[in-house]
Amino acid sequence: MDLHVHIGRSSDGKTVKRGTSKELTFANIAYEARFRKGINVIGVVDCVSPWIIKDIEDLLKRGELEELPEGGMIYRDDLVILLGSEIETREKGGCHAHSLVFFPYLWQVKEFSRIMEGHMPNLAENSTMSRLSGQQLFDIADSLGGFYMPAHAFTPYKSFYGNCTHSLHTVFGESSFAKIPAVELGLSADTYMASLLSELDGKAFTSNSDAHSLLRIGREYNVMRLAALNYGEVLKALKCQNGREIVANYGLDPKLGKYHRTFCLQCNEITELPPPVLQCPNDPRHRVVVGVRDRIEVIKDRHDSPADVNGRPDEKASTARRPPYHYQVPLNFLPGVGPRTIDKLIQAFGTEMNILHRVVPEDLAKVVPQSIVDLIVKGREGRLAIAHGGGGIYGKVLE
Ligand SMILES: [Zn+2]
Ligand SMILES: [Zn+2]
Repeated sequence: MDLHVHIGRSSDGKTVKRGTSKELTFANIAYEARFRKGINVIGVVDCVSPWIIKDIEDLLKRGELEELPEGGMIYRDDLVILLGSEIETREKGGCHAHSLVFFPYLWQVKEFSRIMEGHMPNLAENSTMSRLSGQQLFDIADSLGGFYMPAHAFTPYKSFYGNCTHSLHTVFGESSFAKIPAVELGLSADTYMASLLSELDGKAFTSNSDAHSLLRIGREYNVMRLAALNYGEVLKALKCQNGREIVANYGLDPKLGKYHRTFCLQCNEITELPPPVLQCPNDPRHRVVVGVRDRIEVIKDRHDSPADVNGRPDEKASTARRPPYHYQVPLNFLPGVGPRTIDKLIQAFGTEMNILHRVVPEDLAKVVPQSIVDLIVKGREGRLAIAHGGGGIYGKVLE
């Protein structure tokens, strides 16, 4: 499951989210997710836009999508699409944060869109920006029967922990906080980093791609134990109810994330010093973008993560066990692996997830040079040398 995928464009080419690729149509997303990435549940997060709603209605009319009684839309038998939206809110002090809201049925999405029209300055062409606070957005989603999840919760721009607060309790009332089932980690954080905040102990961690192009769908995803594919089951898994649960997270090594470490905008440099680095080591007057790793170091209230790097619970920790977080290095991060090589591999082995996690090296070697096989295997074992990212620049796999 990948719960954070942008459509960005309506089927007739209108832009609803800037910076998204033209190829991100409903049909293309579904094909990429299901057949090239091997994903069964995707959350589409631009559904507040009336143009996207119209597209969904057309697909329903043509019989390509079908609404499930337990919520969610099914596409060709085994891909479930959850209808949601990513919305930017403004908190006290003027900081901005992104959140994801999801609804089981289309009528709720339509109602949500109608309500949000009064709270978004330019809903048609910018399906994200609102004038609401996080609490107000929560109240709207909750009153319509949806669920609410803070997005990429630690990134320096546009997230609650990144630039608004050290605690979600300052943003949400007690009963609202209790109803938030999960928090999205974002590309620059993982379970071990986020577990350093004890207030998140009761929340599931989700790892999602925030894809703005087809290639990036599934660069992070969640493996869940469900009894069936539908919205109701996903929500149970997030709440860890009736044996439904997230079994594992798969995501980038956070060092590869764009905001992992602090970056000086004047020196154009990602810090190499031990965290937390909150100012430029060359000149404290320089403006910096504080890294996720550095930020967590400042706001954490635990010294050690309750899980070790393989997801095994630390025996000394008193907190609940977390599912393992497996690092994966997507093929397009590997030096020397271009779109043509990726196509060749997918033709031979089905999906990217097969290639990254399952195909034995001997079989990979029949399709690509040994140097690439070695990189894939090292990626599986977490042995790649990585220069960490920061300030909007992805980390890099070193050759
Ligand atoms: Zn997003
Ligand atoms: Zn500097």
